[in-house]
Amino acid sequence: MQKIKNYINGVLTEPVSIHYIDNIDPSTGEVYSMCADSDARDVELAYQAAEAAFEDWANMPVGNRSRIMLRLAELIEKNTDKLALAESIDQGKPVWLAKNGEIPRAQSNIHFFATAIEHFSSEAHPMGNHALNYTLRTPIGVVGCISPWNLPLYLFTWKIAPALAAGNCVVAKPSEVTPMTAYLFSELCIEAGLPKGVLNIVHGLGPKVGSAIVAHEKITAISFTGGTKTGAEIARIAAPMFKKLSLELGGKNPNIIFADCDFDKAVKESVRASFTNQGEICLCGSRLFIERSIYDKFKEAYIKQVSNLKIGDPLLDDTKVGAIASKVHFDKILSYIELAKQEGGTVLTGGNIYKPIGRCANGFFIEPTVIEGLSFDCRTNREEIFGPVVTLQPFDTEEEVLMMANSTTYGLATMMFTENLSRAHRMAANVKSGIVWVNCWLLRDLRTPFGGIKQSGVGREGGLEALRFFTEVKNVCIKL
Ligand code: NAD
Repeated sequence: MQKIKNYINGVLTEPVSIHYIDNIDPSTGEVYSMCADSDARDVELAYQAAEAAFEDWANMPVGNRSRIMLRLAELIEKNTDKLALAESIDQGKPVWLAKNGEIPRAQSNIHFFATAIEHFSSEAHPMGNHALNYTLRTPIGVVGCISPWNLPLYLFTWKIAPALAAGNCVVAKPSEVTPMTAYLFSELCIEAGLPKGVLNIVHGLGPKVGSAIVAHEKITAISFTGGTKTGAEIARIAAPMFKKLSLELGGKNPNIIFADCDFDKAVKESVRASFTNQGEICLCGSRLFIERSIYDKFKEAYIKQVSNLKIGDPLLDDTKVGAIASKVHFDKILSYIELAKQEGGTVLTGGNIYKPIGRCANGFFIEPTVIEGLSFDCRTNREEIFGPVVTLQPFDTEEEVLMMANSTTYGLATMMFTENLSRAHRMAANVKSGIVWVNCWLLRDLRTPFGGIKQSGVGREGGLEALRFFTEVKNVCIKL
């Protein structure tokens, strides 16, 4: 069975423990590869390799660094089919989604930061003819990047690309639930000629490998994407060590449908925003607020489209909803559907385990589920479910929907559908989230700041924000 090894000092290596954990294909429920069960000893080896590589990488002319990264981007593109298939098997998402969305985005992440660094400049603040201030932005050193399982290669590259472009060396940890594409990526790093030690990938469990990266006294910046609870644990360890922290955490995003929307577009985009990637995207709209005058009409049209979503084998081209990434997560989602019923919700469609016939009979499938009749502040509407489960709630006024939309502890993304420009601006200014999409969802420009407020995170990724995070800033004042 294939072994997913660590990538340390430019070489694919066994974990020190020589122990591996099962890696499961969620569409079949079967073990199909083995993932390195690394620990603090592997993290230390990775750190040593990164530290040794730092001087040369940080001082390499930016154009050369950029060229190596561009080679990596090219190799991702060349291997799109292979990576997409691997991502689909590892994570459960439909293969067409990986092929058209996630893998091209991973390529763009590397390409974007490889070119952005060539245009990254710092400031000067002249004080007339008295003095000159200028700002130096230098790489931090060895940084840690920890990523989740929902968009594995996409989010892994979204972190390591700015870190590397800015001249840092990296100790990275992909999720143990979906380690395969990061492993294939390490093979591409070797092929691209990335100097040894510049990027090190340590596979294994969060509390063992992730926490060893966070607690390592010489790894002084951590970029993390994952759950809010894990983010809090990371902050608890990193804050007293005064590490630089970027935390991209959970969400419970409102999707607000006003009566003056373009109806057909609102229904179609809302279905996409609810169930893409089985609802396992931090940006998915899981609370739909619909203006009362169109509530019944919207509900009918929305449910019709949702019940037509084809669920099943992720490798089939017409599958729209694939498998849930793991059994643990599958059980968690089902427990939330039960909770919603206990809280008085009515399931309008879905709500059940789905059992395909054939190859995927033992996979982890849940029907796209839509629930109504819940109060805006019940647990189902406050806690992140992170699966194909959505609630519908009517509203009467802008003030009321704003209050309900803002009522959770999260603040990642808000979607709204309206043709009224003034309303769109007013609402966008007042919703409490880091990202607002009006009449669209997940329309991304990599130059824009990305991240959440409240318990959805600290800091911003994307564009210059990411390059600023991965550099130390120093002001130099020269008396003239
Ligand atoms: P998770 O927090 O369980 O794990 C994320 C990563 O952290 C994994 O690599 C895991 O091994 C590691 N980890 C676990 N415990 C750790 C510890 N104690 N110390 C250090 N590392 C540790 O999250 P998940 O279940 O993989 O991902 C789902 C969550 O991620 C959801 O809450 C989702 O909203 C969030 N997410 C957020 C964004 C965003 O951009 N804001 C994007 C994607 C996913």
